[in-house]
Amino acid sequence: MKGLEADVIVVAAGVAGLAASIAAAEKGAQVIVFEKASTTGGTGNMGMGPLGVESRLQRLKKIGPSKEEAFKVFMDYTHWQVDAQLVGAYLEKATTTIDWLEKMGIEFLEPRPYFPGGWPTWHVVNPGEGKPGGGGCAATMFRIMTEKAKGMGVQFFLQTPVEKIIKQGDKVAGVTAEDRTGKTIQADAKAVIIATGGFGDNPQWIKKYTGYEWGRDLQSFRVPGLAGDGIRMAWEVGAAPTEMRMELIYLMPGELDPELAETFRQPHLLLNLLGERFMNEETMANPAFTGNAISRQKNRAAFLIFDENIKKHMESVGFDLLQEVFPFTKVSDLDALMKNAFKASYKDIFVADSLEELTGKTGIDPDGLKRTIEEYNGFCRKGLDPIFNKNPKLLRPITTPKYYAGKFLPGAYGSLGGIKINYKTEVLNKDWKKIPGLYAAGTDACSIYGDTYVFILPGNTMGFALNSGRIAGENAAAYAQSAGK
Ligand SMILES: Cc1cc2nc3c(=O)[nH]c(=O)nc-3n(C[C@H](O)[C@H](O)[C@H](O)COP(=O)(O)OP(=O)(O)OC[C@H]3O[C@@H](n4cnc5c(N)ncnc54)[C@H](O)[C@@H]3O)c2cc1C
Repeated sequence: MKGLEADVIVVAAGVAGLAASIAAAEKGAQVIVFEKASTTGGTGNMGMGPLGVESRLQRLKKIGPSKEEAFKVFMDYTHWQVDAQLVGAYLEKATTTIDWLEKMGIEFLEPRPYFPGGWPTWHVVNPGEGKPGGGGCAATMFRIMTEKAKGMGVQFFLQTPVEKIIKQGDKVAGVTAEDRTGKTIQADAKAVIIATGGFGDNPQWIKKYTGYEWGRDLQSFRVPGLAGDGIRMAWEVGAAPTEMRMELIYLMPGELDPELAETFRQPHLLLNLLGERFMNEETMANPAFTGNAISRQKNRAAFLIFDENIKKHMESVGFDLLQEVFPFTKVSDLDALMKNAFKASYKDIFVADSLEELTGKTGIDPDGLKRTIEEYNGFCRKGLDPIFNKNPKLLRPITTPKYYAGKFLPGAYGSLGGIKINYKTEVLNKDWKKIPGLYAAGTDACSIYGDTYVFILPGNTMGFALNSGRIAGENAAAYAQSAGK
């Protein structure tokens, strides 16, 4: 066994781990980071940007909620079912974190809401080199944070997964990890921060703790290596569990060309397997609400339906629902895109010459579909949707073959929760007492949303990871310094 020593060990170099390691180093701590993957940044490399509150950019543009407004929005949204102290500490920290990142050389685009009705808290990272912001642009931020941490003397061990937390008496004393050659190494430290990003790549845990069966009634991002390691290790040393959920959104199963996927995300006619509408399709702009609604339907499935006229509208006039991750304004050639998808054996988009044929292919109840389309077409003629009050501009009848359908399942960015922490990110045991020297941050400890991701304040999960990471880094460094005296 090779021996290593630090004041603070950070388990993982994802979003929370990077923030924690820089924050601890800023407080003068010697920091070692062990990371399972071959790169830093974790899931954050797929994202676009974090939440900020009262940032320099928001103050400049006079936009966004104040810290007090954000707290009220948060707690009203969650019905006070979550730890208000932790939410408060997160939002307090969030008033300085964007500026802290800017000082490292990270640039952000103008803060914005993710969808109409959201608050402009989302600070999309400017990826530089003249590239536009878009899916994965936040990777630039994690590259800069990694360089910053290295410059401060933080030692990184990549491809070195931590296996176990070591305790001496009631105090945390270090970790064991597996190095690149497969050997177990031990590292001693006064404080350990867990930030392993949850269990989004662990279908057994997803089934056990959230009830979803991956691939059948859930299509979530599975970032390799997110197996719940940190949660397991914390529980092994006595940490209390929290509620564990998926960060629910909605997705089409499997891999699909983004332009094609956007075509099927438009607010036309959304039905369940009974052939019934179940929400105002305008709400499809809000991924969390739509994920919730779909997960309450038969087999947790939904189908977006449109006809040839609507297809032509999307090709010539364009999309109704625009979003930033894949910023398409119209579909160029739907037939060609669908042909490619079928060639690649994609199974969850459908085209048919009649509604009967469409029900045969999708499994939607034929009587239900017929009834709903007759009713919906009547709403379109009158320009009034008396059931869900959908915007009349979006009421387009389904009358003309061919007919198209795309299937949705509940989706998820990843998991949420697992390790109980307090507002200082100290890990608590089942008696709600802290485990001296143990801290957790990011997804592993993110139980502040209640039953639904607080997407109304967008950038929230990356925001929580950065801010809880910073809080953990500062507190772990202070603890290590006081424990060393
Ligand atoms: C497609 C996509 C887009 C997203 N976009 C956004 C966005 O724009 N804004 C937003 O707020 N959120 C976004 N998110 C969510 C956000 O990226 C995550 O909430 C955030 O990355 C969580 O940070 P974390 O540090 O907890 O975990 P991660 O960033 O996932 O880091 C966890 C790290 O732990 C490592 N690890 C695992 N086990 C071990 C072990 N045993 N030892 C050592 N290391 C280990 C992993 O390799 C990984 O590097 C997005 C997510 C996805 C999937």
